[in-house]
Amino acid sequence: MEEKIKALQDKLNRYNYEYHVLDDPTIPDSEYDRLLHELIALEEQYPEFKSDTSPTVRVGGEVLSRFEKVAHDTPMLSLGNAFNEEELWAFDKRVREAVGDVEYMCELKIDGLAVSLKYESGRFVQGTTRGDGTVGENITANLRTIRAIPLTLDRPLSFEVRGEAYMPKSSFEKLNEEKEQNGDTPFQNPRNAAAGSLRQLDPKLAAKRNLSIFLYSVNDLTELEAETQSEALDELDRAGFRTNRERRLVSSIDEVLEYIEYWENHRNDLEYDIDGIVIKVNAFSGQEEMGYTAKSPRWAIAYKFPAEEVVTDLIDIELTV
Ligand code: NAD
Repeated sequence: MEEKIKALQDKLNRYNYEYHVLDDPTIPDSEYDRLLHELIALEEQYPEFKSDTSPTVRVGGEVLSRFEKVAHDTPMLSLGNAFNEEELWAFDKRVREAVGDVEYMCELKIDGLAVSLKYESGRFVQGTTRGDGTVGENITANLRTIRAIPLTLDRPLSFEVRGEAYMPKSSFEKLNEEKEQNGDTPFQNPRNAAAGSLRQLDPKLAAKRNLSIFLYSVNDLTELEAETQSEALDELDRAGFRTNRERRLVSSIDEVLEYIEYWENHRNDLEYDIDGIVIKVNAFSGQEEMGYTAKSPRWAIAYKFPAEEVVTDLIDIELTV
């Protein structure tokens, strides 16, 4: 068993490197998620073979050396996953046991690149990738080219705002058409294209790529008058940030399921890719009570959509290479 677990850890670490560092995955996300799930189950059964370099305890990838490294003021974590209704009910049970009655904020899970924007006295001073969660890459010059990021705010706020930078589908299609015309290899998907655009050295290139962003959290709550995720998002709106409008506040998993079903059927109508739904305990007091694991908050979970098209895309690419 030890060998099997070690082999799975090594394999997933390699896939992580390809995805997060090289921006060039070789397997579909659904396959990666399936293997990760298998490893989590095995490590739970045989905790003696869990190591601190296992992909189950890591967030994201390594940091590329060509960008300056920046330590995050507070870690940028990942999210626990749910792949079916049962896992959502189990999450709900854990939440209710910890905090009692609860409201959930449902948000779209934008399929882009997690970034952190640092403001000092209302001025945008630094933007970073998530990197390994503790240390990210300084990509300020590239992020400055995103028009949806305010360079100055009306209020002298000092904090880090976090969100997802992404490439709209229309920009992605245009970019790939151009690439094909020039005989270059097209990007696999908008996420890949956004990550590639933000992690290259010439900001003029990033500026041409028409990227955008949705912000969804802040690291220092004392800067905002908010006691819930819902209020924090409204405050971010008022401060001049772009947040996603499709969020919905609900008070039961049944309502979460309705929201999921709606977006599973309507995701193709959106101008950007989503790969699931994020469900968060709305009250910050409840979030504090539940706390964090090494990798993710206990008060939130990501419901992942099944990803059929990605499989065909990758197979197509393999066949044409
Ligand atoms: P994740 O994508 O499962 O979830 C966490 C991330 O969701 C956050 O960091 C944030 O960037 C994002 N997010 C989007 N909208 C959000 C919102 N409204 N609120 C909060 N967060 C939001 O976890 P991960 O650790 O970023 O990466 C794992 C992903 O990468 C999985 O989808 C996995 O399939 C994929 N992956 C694929 C390969 C491969 O080889 N194909 C390898 C490694 C990872």
